[in-house]
Amino acid sequence: MAKYRVRINPRENCISDMVCVSICPDVFEMNPDDNKTQIVEKFRSPPENIAEGIISEDLRECAEQAAAACPVQIIFVEPAE
Ligand code: SF4
Repeated sequence: MAKYRVRINPRENCISDMVCVSICPDVFEMNPDDNKTQIVEKFRSPPENIAEGIISEDLRECAEQAAAACPVQIIFVEPAE
C-alpha cells in the first residue's frame, strides 16, 4: 500500500483551532503541553519528531482534507519515498 509523508511545518504557527483534529483524528491530535497539533504517536517518523509522520493510503484522504482546511496552511501530505 502506498505511503504518504505528513508534515506540520512550521508547527509553531499552529493557532490551535483543532480543525485538523476534528477532520482527521486518526492522524492529528493536540499536544497537551503547548496546545498545538501533533502527529499521533504511532505514525511519527522519525519517532522523536512530533511534527512528521508516515501514513498509509487509507488515511490519505482525511489528512489531505485537514491540510486543505487548515487556516494557516501548515499541513502537507506528499508521497513518501
Ligand atoms: S488546522 Fe492548522 S491551525 Fe488548526 S490545529 Fe490543525 S495545524 Fe493547527
